[in-house]
Amino acid sequence: MTVTTGLVTDERYLLHDPGTWHPERPDRLKAIIKQLKFSGLWNELTIIPPWEEGVLPWVEAVHDPAYIRRFEQACQKKQSIFMVPDCGICDRSYEIALLAVGGVLAGAEAIMQGEVANAFCAVRPPGHHAEYNRAMGFCFFNNVAIAAVYLLKQHGLERVAIVDWDVHHGNGTQHLFEADPRVFYLSLHEDPDYCYPGTGRRKEKGRGPGEGYTLNLPLPPRSGDEDYLEALEKEGLPRLYDFAPQFVLISAGFDAHRLDPLAHQNLTRRGYTAMGRMLLKLAQDTARGRLMSVLEGGYNLEVLADCVEDHLRLLSGRELKRAEAAEA
Ligand SMILES: [Zn+2]
Repeated sequence: MTVTTGLVTDERYLLHDPGTWHPERPDRLKAIIKQLKFSGLWNELTIIPPWEEGVLPWVEAVHDPAYIRRFEQACQKKQSIFMVPDCGICDRSYEIALLAVGGVLAGAEAIMQGEVANAFCAVRPPGHHAEYNRAMGFCFFNNVAIAAVYLLKQHGLERVAIVDWDVHHGNGTQHLFEADPRVFYLSLHEDPDYCYPGTGRRKEKGRGPGEGYTLNLPLPPRSGDEDYLEALEKEGLPRLYDFAPQFVLISAGFDAHRLDPLAHQNLTRRGYTAMGRMLLKLAQDTARGRLMSVLEGGYNLEVLADCVEDHLRLLSGRELKRAEAAEA
């Protein structure tokens, strides 16, 4: 059965330029859009434009207002980096980071209004490393965290799950919700001893009222489909079903793929699709199907475009010809 799936994107997401040779480059999004158009899938999706207005208050609901100003000023002054060397910026970066937040807000609202059943947000810059008052790891505003807060505050949801399968631990997302039992944060990532940012150990389980609502499943280098699927199915899913989320958010990074240049994992397209299938089933079982994926990492352009196409085919209930046929 096909369902209406939303695709949040905007050409202006190409305008955030973190500098020559930066892996988080505009070509990532170009590759995704080109492939979706070429495959014809683009025409089957509901294209959702990002919000232009009313976005800043939601960023302020998650990030330090002084930090937000500082980022805006760094762009106005045409600085080339912000806070840390890996957070390259240009004069448009603040505006485009706000537009990325506007994208996830538009996607979340479209799902809550029933305009689409689920959605994928092809936005950049990514967000899951962004802390309350700190830019890190190519991230400035924590898109997925802001979407979660929007769902809690604007729509009165009581339980939102964030599943982060980017190869890197989502330190920002974990820290923003570690004391909040309304948000269950589950991350599958490469062992922090071997991979940026060095957080996300099993012993990090949340704190205070949020204790038990953070679940880190670090995997050793060169883990593949079976390792990821076993961790998600045996450890992650039972906890997610106990939590019974009313909305499922995925921090969808595709940099755990075996051909990605930034880490050392061995996932394939099949592995990603199988994880997506489990989470879609979870959303159907506990959240009336409400699921939104937000792009994080993924730095091999061909792999990224293939994985996003597979994921959108899965979300929209379309045949996964390419994924099933490929051994990539
Ligand atoms: Zn990553």
